[in-house]
Amino acid sequence: MPTEYTQDDLLPLSGIQHFLFCRRQWALIHIEQQWKENALTAEGRIMHKKVDDPFFTETRNGVVTARSVPVASYRLGLSGVCDVVEFTSSSDGVRLPNREGLYLPAPIEYKRGKEKRDHSDETQLCAQAMCLEEMLSTHIPRGYLFYGETRRRMEVDFTLELRTLVQDISAEMHNYFSRGYTPKVKTHKGCRSCSLADICLPVLQEKVIAASRYIKQNIEG
Ligand code: SF4
Repeated sequence: MPTEYTQDDLLPLSGIQHFLFCRRQWALIHIEQQWKENALTAEGRIMHKKVDDPFFTETRNGVVTARSVPVASYRLGLSGVCDVVEFTSSSDGVRLPNREGLYLPAPIEYKRGKEKRDHSDETQLCAQAMCLEEMLSTHIPRGYLFYGETRRRMEVDFTLELRTLVQDISAEMHNYFSRGYTPKVKTHKGCRSCSLADICLPVLQEKVIAASRYIKQNIEG
């Protein structure tokens, strides 16, 4: 793994979610460029549009809010866009252009639905924070996830464990990408809501594999 990636090597940070959900889905999207929209992804996009105004800041109660903030990390080899970055007055913070004092950044990500069990939202948020840390030369202890369905704002601590997971996943993604490797089908619960199910054809592929195994064992001897 290189110690620093170049601009051309950067992979989309948003792929972390796909990768954690299913490595094959990630490879179909990011290596084989297959994309098929289903209701779940369409809804997610509409919700994102609301916060996706071009880079815009506002100040309320001393908190500076920046929207659609582009971020990148050459150490991780990832780039993306933060929905929102909130800057709160803090002696541990960074300077902002044309403003007095120091401000501590915290990324906020808006999600449709409710909290997931697989921690993919926390991992993606932590990757955003690690990009911001590299860009602003600071330490960001926490960020927030906002869920559309439950209207809940959840605090996420960027622990060493979560940071290590981000590093490991980005290294693994780069490994797959540089080899052009798409993992084979392995069906799981998530296949039912997968937007690529009919491209991936999990049931059919598994039947083909089972059939060829049967032929090998029983017909070819
Ligand atoms: S259908 Fe299942 S195995 Fe295929 S890409 Fe989707 S989640 Fe992965």
